[in-house]
Parts: sequence; structure tokens; C-alpha cells
Amino acid sequence: MRRVREQSADIYSKVRSSIRLTPEEGLFLLQNIDLLELGSLANDIRLKKNPEPRVTFVVDTNPNYTNICNIDCIFCAFYRHSGEEGEYTYSVDHMIRKFKESAEQGVTTILLQGGVNPAVPFDYYVEMVERTVKEIPGVTPHFYSTSEIIGMAEISGRTVPQVLQRLWDAGQRSIPGGGAEILSDRVKKKISNKKGTSADWLNVMREAHKIGFKTTATMMYGHIEKDEDIIEHLEVIRQLQDEYHGFTAFIPWSFKPGNTPLEKIIPHYATANRYYQIIALSRIYLDNFDHIQASWFSEGKKAGQIALHFGADDFGGTILEENVHAAANFVNKTNTEECIELIHGAGFAAAQRNTLYDILQEYPLQEAAAA
Ligand code: SF4
Repeated sequence: MRRVREQSADIYSKVRSSIRLTPEEGLFLLQNIDLLELGSLANDIRLKKNPEPRVTFVVDTNPNYTNICNIDCIFCAFYRHSGEEGEYTYSVDHMIRKFKESAEQGVTTILLQGGVNPAVPFDYYVEMVERTVKEIPGVTPHFYSTSEIIGMAEISGRTVPQVLQRLWDAGQRSIPGGGAEILSDRVKKKISNKKGTSADWLNVMREAHKIGFKTTATMMYGHIEKDEDIIEHLEVIRQLQDEYHGFTAFIPWSFKPGNTPLEKIIPHYATANRYYQIIALSRIYLDNFDHIQASWFSEGKKAGQIALHFGADDFGGTILEENVHAAANFVNKTNTEECIELIHGAGFAAAQRNTLYDILQEYPLQEAAAA
């Protein structure tokens, strides 16, 4: 016990002096430190990094253009094989119509992802970007996960950097961090064997950052991973962030088992306390990330609010449409007004941001109190 206290004191003093933690120290924090102490340390760092008591959010939507996928991740309830009942692939026209309707409702970010569908030609992806940028200039295309980008390279005979450059030339500037799950090949082999390695995900992100794209980094925990795998994940994204500082934010969420093959082994949700622990640890460990995102959507509104006191400074998006968690029977809804209320209710001023974290509109706390 005395040893734990001494080691904790050493680590706290390192963190407070802005000295980077080693993976061993990160693991020690995850396994030994009281949750509230961890949260308090994370909150101190958050306020040092983003001193304003303000929490940002984005007005966004997460539509999907196809649910056909040949990757067969065992944690996924969303995908269908080609020819299977319920499969779909929408035309670019159809998606652009949807995007316009979303923009009319105030959406500024469209997070577009699909399955990895080999029947979709590369031109389709490029046209989707070009038309979004041209026809809906108020919206940022935050399109295509690393798995889809690798799929584009395979079907088009291009390299990943060539695919990324073509998307950049079409006007895309931002890429979502989906597809990471846990960046530990021990875990990836078991839950997404056909998806490629951690190095593949990191390589797409590295090449994107090199060109100038901004991306997010994500992590899906709460399944078969061990604490060591979580540390490995945080370590490799921290290393990559050192190279180009291309990640805008880190976004962890917990596995949703409903209707997935993995449900037979992991039938339950991770706890809210585990979520706070992951948020706090990531704020402490990821010393080169500006933003840590708390999610009202993936963990519930109350848990999202509480996470804002464990080091998170962003509340994610309003998510007008969502189909991936919904396929796992996990549905949560909000709107801009409620998002602002939830942030105010947690004790922070709210600010609407765009995809790249520029502030679009402020909603100070005192106005809410006076209203
Ligand atoms: S998570 Fe993505 S890549 Fe994996 S099966 Fe689902 S849609 Fe396909």
C-alpha cells in the first residue's frame, strides 16, 4: 500500500510538471488509482490545456451509403453481405439529397461511413466529396474510415497515399477515426481478423496527416481487451500524434453487444465508471492531444455530462441520424437545444464548433441561468 502511495505521488508529480508518462506508469494509473483521484488529476490537465470552462459540440449527422461489407468484424451488427436481406447501397444523388436536408436542419459536419463494399467504384467516393463541397458549402465532409480507404486502394489499384491525395484534391480535409477499435494486434486478430493490423490503421492516418488532413482517433473498449491493450492503443496514437499533430481529438466509446456475434462471449455493457476511468486516463496519457471527447450518445446523457468532469472538454455531435449503434439496439437521441442544456447542466458554458474545432457560436452559462 505504501509502495502504491509512493509510486502514485511520483506519477502525480510528473504529470503536474508536464512530464510524459511511460506505458508502465499509464498501466499503473489504470490499475491502481482511485477513480476520483484520477478524475481530479485529469480535470487539472484539461483546465491547463483548455482553461476556459467551456465545452464544445458539433451539429452533425452520421448517415451510411452502404451496409454491404466483406470484413465480418464480430463486434458489428450493422453490416450485411451482398445479396442478404436488408442490404443497401445508395446512389450519390440519394446521399447528396440527404446531406442537403441535413444542412437545412443546421448540420455542419457529415460523418459518412459505410461497409467495405467492393462493388462501389472509386469514382463514387470522389464524386461524393466533390459534390458535397460544391453543392453544400456550409457542410464539412468528414468521410470514410481507414478500412474504406484501404478498400478504395484495393479496388482502384492505387496506393493509399494516391487515394488520399485524390480525396484531398476533391476537397476533403477531414477523416473520421473509425476502424481502430483497439490498436493491439492480439485483439484485432480475434475481433476483426480481416480488417488489417494496427499498423494498417496507423499508416492510413499517418499518410493522411502528411498530406494535411485532420482526423480523429477513436477507441472501442469493453470487449476482450486487457488493460495492457488499452495502454498500447494510447501509446501508438500518442507516438503518431508526435509526428504531424494531425489528430484533433480522441474519442473512446464502449462496445455495444446487441445482435453481434461477440454478444455470445461479451453480453454486457462496460460500466459508466470504466468510461470515466478511460476518459481520465486518456486525458492524462495523451499529453499531445488538445481535445478529449465525452459522448452523450454512446454512454448515455448523464454519463456524458459526468465525463466532462473527468478531463473531457468536448461533447461530440448532435447526431441527427445514426444506424450503427441502432443495429445493436442502442438508440439515443438529442438535438442542439438539449445538447446546450446538458452542457450547461454539467456546469460549463457551451460552444458550437465545426469539424476542425473552430468556434461558431457561444452559449454562455449565465444566459442559461438567467433564462
Ligand atoms: S465494423 Fe465496419 S468493417 Fe467491420 S464489419 Fe462492420 S461495417 Fe464492416
